[in-house]
Amino acid sequence: MNTSKKINLLGLTQRELEEFFIDIGEPKYRAVQTLKWIHKHGCLDFDQMSDLSEALRKKLHNIASLKPPLIHHQMKSKDGTIKYLIQIESGSIVEMVRIPSDNRQTLCISSQAGCALQCSFCATGAQGFEVNLSASEIIGQLWLASFHDEKLPPITNIVFMGMGEPLLNIKPVLNSVDLMLNTNAYCISKRKITLSTSGIAPEIESLPDKTDVSLALSLHAPNNKLRDELVPINKKYPLEMLMESCKKYLSYFGKRKSITIEYIMINDVNDSYDHAVQLSNLLKQLKCKINLIPFNSFEGNSYQQSSLENINVFKDYLIKNGFVTTVRITRGDEVDGACGQLSGQLLNAIKSKKSSNIELKNIT
Ligand code: SAH
Ligand code: SF4
Repeated sequence: MNTSKKINLLGLTQRELEEFFIDIGEPKYRAVQTLKWIHKHGCLDFDQMSDLSEALRKKLHNIASLKPPLIHHQMKSKDGTIKYLIQIESGSIVEMVRIPSDNRQTLCISSQAGCALQCSFCATGAQGFEVNLSASEIIGQLWLASFHDEKLPPITNIVFMGMGEPLLNIKPVLNSVDLMLNTNAYCISKRKITLSTSGIAPEIESLPDKTDVSLALSLHAPNNKLRDELVPINKKYPLEMLMESCKKYLSYFGKRKSITIEYIMINDVNDSYDHAVQLSNLLKQLKCKINLIPFNSFEGNSYQQSSLENINVFKDYLIKNGFVTTVRITRGDEVDGACGQLSGQLLNAIKSKKSSNIELKNIT
């Protein structure tokens, strides 16, 4: 039997699994049974799925597989943050990060290997686009985080802030979100799942028809001239268009939703008092909260992080003007809180090492 022809059931939603079982002459309820085995118990072996008949298990062996991506490497920090390098089927490596805090375990996952959008401050952008992740490779990251080490607590929050632009790989992303929400799978609340986008306006506008999980917008600049430079997709979807699509998105949900605005603080680039004034004026029209992210430097990039003083002045201005504004803290000296920051060069260095645990201290 050629294994490459087998269908990987890991990324199928409940509905797709039901269709699969009906197609092979089985009752629909097999889908829920299988779903629970895979995503609640972490079982990838059809033989252990004891409520399936022996004949069905044999059939599944012949036509289906359950294959998560591979953990190529993991790096632990002192405060418990774990960065994983995940190898997908094409051979590309993507990044996943588990970030523990008092009452939550946040998983930052990737939707693409590399990214085509070339934001000037982003290591993933500098790497270029490699490939879209399949649904099994996206949900496979949550599967790995949930089951590869039974000593780790369950994941409570998901952010699509690893590598790639999730709204440019929307179908597999939505399939994974469906499984994250499903009570027969991970049963994570919609408020605890966040899609982060650089601003694909038409996709934002049509998102309410597809999902009601949380949305974060990577804005980073308050005017088109600067945003064209930092987030080049702005040339295609300029701020006027982007704000319109966000307003339409929000109007669909009435008062129930707001958008999180992400704004990287880069020294002398987008962090002046005047930028804060422009940002406040721009965002007046949107129900949002603002998250200021100190820029994380990486090799080959000349930007620098804003000073704490500038960040505070910027933050205070926004707060004074009525915006809920937070600053993303870097926890512990050695831990880089943001995702997607491993440059290609670093990935190569890690790939060539044999040891499976590298202290983050050595690499950030
Ligand atoms: N493509 C999506 C999601 C992945 S990027 C997006 O752009 O939103 C996830 C977050 O990491 C974004 O807010 C992005 O701006 C931020 N990020 C990228 N490079 C960074 C850097 N060098 N320092 C700090 N944050 C960074
Ligand atoms: Fe892509 Fe997001 Fe990085 Fe921009 S910030 S290059 S959209 S991953």
